[in-house]
Amino acid sequence: MQAAERTARESVVAAARELDALGLNRGTSGNVSLRFGNGLLITPSGVPTQALDAEAIVPLAMDGTSPAGTKPSSEWRFHRDILAARPEVGAVVHAHPIYCTGFAICGREIPAVHYMIAAFGGATVRCAPYAPYGTEELSRLALAALEGRSCCLLANHGMIAAGADMARAIWLASELETLCHQFAVALQVGTPQILSEAEIADTVRRFRGYGLNAPARQ
Ligand code: 13P
Ligand code: ZN
Repeated sequence: MQAAERTARESVVAAARELDALGLNRGTSGNVSLRFGNGLLITPSGVPTQALDAEAIVPLAMDGTSPAGTKPSSEWRFHRDILAARPEVGAVVHAHPIYCTGFAICGREIPAVHYMIAAFGGATVRCAPYAPYGTEELSRLALAALEGRSCCLLANHGMIAAGADMARAIWLASELETLCHQFAVALQVGTPQILSEAEIADTVRRFRGYGLNAPARQ
């Protein structure tokens, strides 16, 4: 394995560990991919995060093939399809965090309850309708829910974050879980006040250069 590929594989392992450390994933739930060369590197299917190492990461071609004996994440289709459809995306994170998944179980999209929603590209974070995990149908629905956005919920399942690089994808996943947590608390406290489309459009514009949302450094 070339040094560049080893470094890239190690960053996929580190990302999976960070998602666990942040409390966004547990055990074998969720998966991570990174654009690499003409294809991607992706976590293997059903392997607990603690057992991951660089050798366990699976190289996947854009036609969905991987070396004999490897077993890419069952969600390789949506990882591959997002990277194929969105040239600005360099890394995709899928997780089952508690608050995101709570709203996804209710099939609810997240409205503009906080200006931070602008970090995801618009005034809502959509929830893709339910389809079984690992299916082409789930990939199709997820891509539609991600139109013009960096994140979406997956009904009765979890969420997806797509970033210019791995640090951004993890940041987005963590911010979305925070937003869903805040929305859940607000629903218990009273009636959430929703910001207008115009407020969010303005924040989206001003947000382009903010923090990890800023364009990727070359
Ligand atoms: P994998 O272990 O196959 O990546 O599946 C986990 C998951 O979250 C499926 O949606
Ligand atoms: Zn999942």
